[in-house]
Amino acid sequence: MRTLIANGTIVTADGSYPGDVLVDGERIAQLGADLAGAGVTADETIDASGKYVIPGAIDVHTHMELPFGGTFAKDTFESGTRAAAFGGTTSIVDFAVQSRGSSLRDGLDAWHAKAAGNAVVDYGFHMIMSDVNDDTLAEMDRLVEEGVPDFKLFTAYPGVFFSDDAAIFRAMQQTGKNGGLIMMHAENGPAIDIVAADLVAAGKTDPLYHGIARYPVFEGEATNRVIRLAEAAQVPVYIVHLSASDALNAVRDARDRGSMAFAETCPQYLFLSLDDMGNGFEGAKFVCSPPLRTPEHQDQLWTGLQKDDLQVVSTDHCPFDFHGQKDLGRGDFRKVPNGLPGVEDRVDLLHDGGVVGGRFSRERWVDLVSTGPAKLFGMYPRKGSITVGADADLVVYDPNRTRVISAEAHHMDVDYSCYEGRSVQGASDVVLSRGSVVVRNGEFTGRKGHGQFIRRAAADYARLA
Ligand SMILES: [Zn+2]
Repeated sequence: MRTLIANGTIVTADGSYPGDVLVDGERIAQLGADLAGAGVTADETIDASGKYVIPGAIDVHTHMELPFGGTFAKDTFESGTRAAAFGGTTSIVDFAVQSRGSSLRDGLDAWHAKAAGNAVVDYGFHMIMSDVNDDTLAEMDRLVEEGVPDFKLFTAYPGVFFSDDAAIFRAMQQTGKNGGLIMMHAENGPAIDIVAADLVAAGKTDPLYHGIARYPVFEGEATNRVIRLAEAAQVPVYIVHLSASDALNAVRDARDRGSMAFAETCPQYLFLSLDDMGNGFEGAKFVCSPPLRTPEHQDQLWTGLQKDDLQVVSTDHCPFDFHGQKDLGRGDFRKVPNGLPGVEDRVDLLHDGGVVGGRFSRERWVDLVSTGPAKLFGMYPRKGSITVGADADLVVYDPNRTRVISAEAHHMDVDYSCYEGRSVQGASDVVLSRGSVVVRNGEFTGRKGHGQFIRRAAADYARLA
């Protein structure tokens, strides 16, 4: 099967130019101007006049079917990757979970079982480590060899995912030997839990207080601490879902002194704020950790994206229904399942707020949602690039079409949208995953099980810093 995408503007992280893309099977076979005129034939031609052709977007932070707080994140690998495809995202990297007392192997096997035969687009895994001990440290080396080179640890959630400084430092030392990467959820969980308990004792139980309890300085402190530990271990570190300017300052300072410190933020921290968490229990729709911040943090994060102190925008997609799941926290914000839906809307929100909003170029947009994550997470140039031989993960993107985000129209399996009623400019028209059209003009044309496991390499972090 040969598909010719003709007459579009190819937009990559490096530059933009008018050109055609020939797809042969699952790969990009040829690039050039007017390929049909040069005698190239294809089974199907997609006219991309007036459209961008971009590498399929990559979301390196999702939680399909994550167990949390007595329930499960609602999207499965099928529904979640299908929604991702509608939004122009053709690869996800999800977090497999090692539960306390079991092995990394068992956790990884469980996630392979959830995804295999179900995913609509390609997927990789990071590994959440709940225990750091001699056995799990040895297992890390094997996972790196199996294409799962990243390990996430938490300074938050005492008693569940929390690791102390000794555990974090030991895991970092191990990546110094095996070439992997430590990803950190950096908030001072023990201190947050004290503040949260005081608030509940004072009768302040609404979701808003979830946001109040998790001070920005608790994120800044933990971010600085884990970066310093990584510097001591002489390894790279990646801060997930950075939300506060206090934490951004810690990353910027580290990068300025030459550290291999990397960070992502998420659309919710760029477009939503603590104000959304008011309005009584409605605020539960916006409960995630770190929490939404006051609006002045948003401006700092946009600047961080412009100046490359932040290298990636991912979603932390982790949807819970408002009715039936978020309800668990009525009367105590500490019991609201933490997480928001977002995998479908990231690419368009960033196009609208970033490119249309005049904050950065269309090339930087592609870098933040596709090429940057591909490089940092060992998928480049197979993913995140439009080059001959790369996987034909491609999006024909209309930069002028506007759409209104709503729970009724979205494809995520969740009963609300954080962006209900927001109009965004920019939308995916045709989405290809390894050469197959999976979405065309609002219709799903893919198939369950098409998605394959992406065996990733450890990246050369020193070169990327
Ligand atoms: Zn997460």
